[in-house]
Amino acid sequence: MPDGPTLSVVVPMRNEAKNLARLHERLCAVLARLGEPAEIICVDDGSTDGTLDMLRLLRAVDPRIKILSLSRNFGKEAALAAGLRYARGRAVVLMDADLQHPPETIERFVELWRQGFEVVFGQRRDRRTDGVLRRWLSLAFYRLFALLSQTDLPFGAGDFRLMDRKVVDALNQLEERTRFTKGLYSWVGFKQVGVSYDVGERTDGGSRFSLLSLWRHAVDGITAFSTIPLRVWSYLGLFVSALAIAFGCWILVRTLVWGADLPGYPSIIVAIMLLSGVQLIGLGVLGEYLGRIFAEVKRRPLFILREQIGFDRGDHQPQAERAEELRTSSHALPGS
Ligand code: UDP
Ligand code: MG
Repeated sequence: MPDGPTLSVVVPMRNEAKNLARLHERLCAVLARLGEPAEIICVDDGSTDGTLDMLRLLRAVDPRIKILSLSRNFGKEAALAAGLRYARGRAVVLMDADLQHPPETIERFVELWRQGFEVVFGQRRDRRTDGVLRRWLSLAFYRLFALLSQTDLPFGAGDFRLMDRKVVDALNQLEERTRFTKGLYSWVGFKQVGVSYDVGERTDGGSRFSLLSLWRHAVDGITAFSTIPLRVWSYLGLFVSALAIAFGCWILVRTLVWGADLPGYPSIIVAIMLLSGVQLIGLGVLGEYLGRIFAEVKRRPLFILREQIGFDRGDHQPQAERAEELRTSSHALPGS
């Protein structure tokens, strides 16, 4: 895109009205120092607190701000996908709206990008702003993910990052609905480098993610990047069957040599309960994957826009969407 801005800053936001003015102020200072043409794409993810009005006000003073308003709350991953699809810059920066991602770090990102790195990701220096439980769970998740998938997740790296146009195009091509972006960033490859930064305190409100939603996110991540949970059951089954055969042989021999006796009721109950539990877990895992396959085959769009402000339609229509239109119109042709 020869006429696009150099830098796109994509900010997903849900109910961040109180943080926006401060965010804009700090971001502007950074962009001024960088001195490159830029656009700021704000994705309003179904906010209910006047975030959209605030964005309109800001856009009146700063036309670099472009607004994508989703029709409801689709979640941060979908909001990011929307922003990435509409960004035109030669490099795209993703950051949170709550100032936990210090905008000043972007200068370092751009410096490394100019040196030839295609992905520059922010790495949190420590996770003090998170509770002990959160930190512990997150560590456990990273370990498990590394064990189950062949994808390397750099620890502490999140959505705060800069990506070259090539990387953004690659990400836009991935059509999966269950988006575990952290994994996708690694999966697409390219020359990556980390920059550590200190996570700021959230300026207003608490984290928009509950432990339950983090759990769902973790399950999404693992099921999207590993089939080991599906396959492990056949091995477990083999192991248990072998054990059962051995035990059966032992009972046969014992009965032939010493005769039959009847105790063993508790051990039977334990065995039944354990094995039915294991079977239900196996079924549950199948269900997790089946549900996701169902979501994928429905091919619903990742997000629905209510409004887009500041993007002139036509030449700024995202490529993926244009391809989709071509595909649907060619279906309509007779004999094609
Ligand atoms: N966010 C969003 N949609 C959601 C939840 C969060 O766009 O459904 C945005 C939120 O407004 C913020 C960013 O994603 O800009 C990170 O959210 P938050 O600070 O709550 O998460 P955490 O700091 O715990 O990662
Ligand atoms: Mg935050």
